[in-house]
Amino acid sequence: MNIYDQLWQKILNDLELTFSEETFADVFEPLKSTHKYSNGHIYVLVPSEFIKNRINRLYLSKINELALKYHHEAIRFKFVVESELVPEETLISPERNLGLKYRPGNLNATYTFDNFVVGKSNMFAFRMAMKVADQPGAVANPLYIFGDVGLGKTHLMQAIGNYILDEDINQKVLYVKADGFIEDFANLLKRERMEDFNSKYREIDILLVDDIQIMGGATKTQMEFFKLFDYLYQQNKQIVITSDKPASELKNIMTRLTSRFEVGLTVDIQVPDLEHRIEILKRKLATESSDIHDIPNNVLEFIASSFVTNIRELEGALKRVLFYCLTNNLDLNVESVNEALEPLLKTKRKSDSLNENNYDKIQSVVSDFYGITLEDLIGKKRHSKYILPRHIAMYLIKSRYNIPYKTIGTLFGDRDHSTVLAACEKIDNDIKQDATMKLAVDTIVKKIDSFNKN
Ligand code: ADP
Ligand code: MG
Repeated sequence: MNIYDQLWQKILNDLELTFSEETFADVFEPLKSTHKYSNGHIYVLVPSEFIKNRINRLYLSKINELALKYHHEAIRFKFVVESELVPEETLISPERNLGLKYRPGNLNATYTFDNFVVGKSNMFAFRMAMKVADQPGAVANPLYIFGDVGLGKTHLMQAIGNYILDEDINQKVLYVKADGFIEDFANLLKRERMEDFNSKYREIDILLVDDIQIMGGATKTQMEFFKLFDYLYQQNKQIVITSDKPASELKNIMTRLTSRFEVGLTVDIQVPDLEHRIEILKRKLATESSDIHDIPNNVLEFIASSFVTNIRELEGALKRVLFYCLTNNLDLNVESVNEALEPLLKTKRKSDSLNENNYDKIQSVVSDFYGITLEDLIGKKRHSKYILPRHIAMYLIKSRYNIPYKTIGTLFGDRDHSTVLAACEKIDNDIKQDATMKLAVDTIVKKIDSFNKN
């Protein structure tokens, strides 16, 4: 019996004591086992619409209350009839590790509640996100999530969207990064296609806006966003916003907006403690496609102690370790792992010791912006999706701190002076000629600034 069946059995036992014999026999007796578990929901197959409606109307809240009592993480039951089941192959389960999968509204299907590891640092944010997902528009509007880079804001926000879509595929969810919104608005001004803009942003039920701090300084965009916010808010449409800082500390965002953000509920995500980081590694390991599912505890602890402030980097380190040990046919122990992580650790140490100028922050922000790992940013891979961010990061460090090219080279896996020089010149040139490039770099600079002010 799996854990969901066990849980259901416990609940059935309670229900039997709570309700009359007839009710129990009619409604619950036939439901011996659960069907499946997916994204925070346990599905139970029921024989008819009639039974389904009866359960939903009369017993569901009791059942979910019992589920909370017996299960340590938030979980809900969903009763479905056969015809509602989606054919298995179209189901997206994180366990199968299908990589990035996109759903309507720009959602990444891999960001779900059930692969979000909960600990002290994110417990409250997680709980509130679950509640909001469960009753959009009714619990907290907007839900405002803030925290540093790589701590799971985007993941949590998209989990809300994915959960809502799981509940009701007809809900219109829209996920947008604040820079995407800025760009859409700029296009609107250029082409005057108000209808397109409005149909994209207004005909929706749930709006998820990621990294709102990027709107700092973009006054016209903020005014448009303000209108949109009010429009959706008036109709009780759920809005979720993420940021790297509390609304009251946002720079160059009009108070009209920040005060709106404070009307709802603000939650924050902190850096996970060691135990929590180890748990995250374990969970990633269980879902990695590699054959290694068992790593000695001291090794996990070593990795988790080396990467403290950013979960994306932590994940990247684990991937690197697995790959390195597999391809070199090494045992997984502290020595081999140390060897595998040496280039990353060396860079970290160097940038720590150079001074407190946060070169690694620039690297983090750039890799985050392009959705690549820190390791790939500073690594040797020659794919264009790594080269551009790498060059931009070099350029930003140079223009900001004006340290020697050679020193910058050491921050990027010991590259030589001429490589860095060429990269900086190229980006400098590109910015002058290519408006999109300029927008990208400006956006990154804003992120770095907001990061540093924290
Ligand atoms: P942010 O938006 O705060 O910069 P992300 O949501 O992009 O951070 O998270 C960075 C990476 O770390 C993602 O791959 C995400 O899945 C992972 N991650 C973050 N928090 C958790 C968590 N609590 N459990 C599991 N994975 C997490
Ligand atoms: Mg993010």
